[in-house]
Amino acid sequence: MKIIAVGMNYSEHVKELNNIIPSEPVIFMKPDSALLKNNKPFYIPNFSNEIHYETELIVRIDKLGKNISEKFASRYYTTIGLGIDFTARDLQRTLRPLGNPWEICKAFDGSAVVSEFYPIKDFGELQNLNFHLEIDGRIVQKGNTSDMIFNINQIIAYVSRFFTLKIGDIIFTGTPVGVGKVDVNNHLEAYLENKKLLDFIVK
Ligand code: ZN
Repeated sequence: MKIIAVGMNYSEHVKELNNIIPSEPVIFMKPDSALLKNNKPFYIPNFSNEIHYETELIVRIDKLGKNISEKFASRYYTTIGLGIDFTARDLQRTLRPLGNPWEICKAFDGSAVVSEFYPIKDFGELQNLNFHLEIDGRIVQKGNTSDMIFNINQIIAYVSRFFTLKIGDIIFTGTPVGVGKVDVNNHLEAYLENKKLLDFIVK
């Protein structure tokens, strides 16, 4: 399986990182070795002093597809969850001006935290869902899927022009404003609407 992620998909987040609103989705990938499941602890890697959380709605593909049109994209997934796209922000700041690839800051081991997946109908209207992250019981990041620059069907149509989507692939759909640093012993809890989907410790 592969993990496809969208960068800069919420305008307030693009502004907080001093970037320009993209005219096409900004796509990157993570390998399966980046997956961190079952609320296992996240270990801060030794190559970064600034690991940021990015809380994101995630979608699991459950039908094989290529060149999927936006109109039919909703046939390719039925379940959603929450993920944390852990990012070594200090490394990213070094790579970005050089125009270098993002893998070492975005795709390292444990950088793709994923919850269990649940039917969309458990939550309501897909493009109007609230989600938030708490660290040590304090809300640090809040978003609503209606604020995505490119919605989920547009993302699927775009990425499937380049990559065949396979059953089990996971799409990270971008993070809202409010990203920040994690520290050892932080307790992270992420909620989609009122349901807690992630609950784990940083080590
Ligand atoms: Zn992200």
